[in-house]
Amino acid sequence: MQGLNPKRVYMAVRDPKSGTGGGFQSSRGLQGITTTNSNTRISATRLPRLQDRPSLVPVSENLGLNSERLRLAMVQRLHDQGISDQRILAAMQAVPRHTFVDEALASRAYDDAALPIGHGQTISQPWVVARMIAAVCENAMPNRVLEVGTGCGYQAAVMAQVFNQVYSIERIRALYDIAREHLRALHLTKVRLTFGDGMAGFPTAAPYDAIIVAAAGIRIPQALLDQLSIGGILIAPEGTSAQRLVKVHRTGQSSWERFELEAVRFVPLKSGLQT
Ligand code: SAH
Repeated sequence: MQGLNPKRVYMAVRDPKSGTGGGFQSSRGLQGITTTNSNTRISATRLPRLQDRPSLVPVSENLGLNSERLRLAMVQRLHDQGISDQRILAAMQAVPRHTFVDEALASRAYDDAALPIGHGQTISQPWVVARMIAAVCENAMPNRVLEVGTGCGYQAAVMAQVFNQVYSIERIRALYDIAREHLRALHLTKVRLTFGDGMAGFPTAAPYDAIIVAAAGIRIPQALLDQLSIGGILIAPEGTSAQRLVKVHRTGQSSWERFELEAVRFVPLKSGLQT
């Protein structure tokens, strides 16, 4: 595991009974974000109204100093929305999400929303990142994990707080370069990034105890299912206009069990490279 600052990692969270459901997330009208590219949950979820939020400090040019507090509020929301694994909450608290987005968007980095990262792609909603990591940790803690769709590297950085070995693959060259810079700035050198088509997985380091796919395909590529270790878990969004998170458990050499989870909306999983 590679912590960013182990001394600061933990925080208190609110009473789990203090509100879990109700309400629908509204479209947030972010520039560059459309309903088809937002990497968000679209089913019922409780987004706190502004007045519910624990006294957020106004975001200023001083975001660096305030960001820890903003992250704590984000983590409390995640907890209220059903993320209960303390290891994952601690990881979400540790990673400075504002350093993964354009400076102009940094003030919104701790909202529960996807944000544009260029090239028609988005940084996933914090809930989605936490949910996917939680889903692969439910039974046992995976050791070697592959992410398909690095984007700006945020989820890979969170994964590096939780897993021993993290591999991530991205098909857009410019994003691969940006992610490498972001992770280097945080000294997260243990994340092994690859520029390539993740639809073929990353056979060099297979098998993986867990695979997390951050873009939606019509169906999950067989290559990814084959690169799971027996007992391993894959989580991926599946579908085109209507998408769902799907969790797959490899139960044997040629047997996989499938479970459908929440409705979501992700950017598309595409084949080939973009240079
Ligand atoms: N993990 C990111 C989410 C990035 S958005 C985060 O931390 O927020 C999804 C990413 O998947 C995009 O960058 C997109 O280019 C990438 N992607 C889509 N198809 C891919 C493929 N076949 N191989 C690798 N990356 C892919």
